[in-house]
Amino acid sequence: MQRLSRNEFVCELSADHSPAYQVQVGEVFVVETQDCHGGQVLREGRSLQERDRALSNPATGPILVEGLQPGDAAAVEVLDVKVADRGIVVAGPEWKVVPIENGAAVFAEDVRLPVEPVIGVIGLAPREGAVPTVTPGDHGGNLDTVDIRPGATIVLPVAHEGGLLALGDVHAVQGDGEISGTGLEVEAEAVLRVTRVVEPLSARPYILTATQVATIGSAPEWPEAIRTAVDDMVALVAKRRGVSPAEAKMLVSLAGDLKFSQIVNPWMTARMVMPRVLAKC
Ligand code: CA
Ligand code: CA
Repeated sequence: MQRLSRNEFVCELSADHSPAYQVQVGEVFVVETQDCHGGQVLREGRSLQERDRALSNPATGPILVEGLQPGDAAAVEVLDVKVADRGIVVAGPEWKVVPIENGAAVFAEDVRLPVEPVIGVIGLAPREGAVPTVTPGDHGGNLDTVDIRPGATIVLPVAHEGGLLALGDVHAVQGDGEISGTGLEVEAEAVLRVTRVVEPLSARPYILTATQVATIGSAPEWPEAIRTAVDDMVALVAKRRGVSPAEAKMLVSLAGDLKFSQIVNPWMTARMVMPRVLAKC
């Protein structure tokens, strides 16, 4: 199995970067990721204030996936994520290093949080320009969405040949909203497989788990992020069920959950979650 080292990374997603790695559609590979501070605090022992912010959210890649063409979507299956033995969580100027033991983050003597890894940054090169890895968008990026974890598949629109995947910013533990600005930030190793989707369920990123489908909306302000996630789900349900938009909206209103993925990045991210059985996907 190919192992893609964390030493090759980008801090913006762009088609202008040459691929650091190449994998095939259907290949299973391992991606090592740095923590969101590039190890400056956890490995090098700098204070949070001393760190170089230009190195925020290093994402391993770009990874050219041979076989992906513009107009396709890429289904990135998260097969496994292993996390390091400690992480860091931040609130304002303060931070805390949290040991990870026996599958739990030891936040305090009486607070052991089960490790449930989330890939915070995962995206392809955007259609145009360069997007910093601190920002989410229709290319993916800093989505900080807790559903992006082992067992899930995130589907991303392909704008350039090979997609140019990059990922990082893994959280050992994170709640919806990520309200302090970080999860439990860790170095990690993710086992992935990318397949080609010719007819995606949505033109923007979406997530499939065993039982649920989630459309994702990212925008500078909440109303647009929410509207995007909701409208994409209504359109998805209307198409899959062969019903009118109004009929689909009624069903999403009754059976779907609107969730705040993160409220802390330069753009906000919301998601609309539906049972797959009702969305017929
Ligand atoms: Ca993040
Ligand atoms: Ca993070």
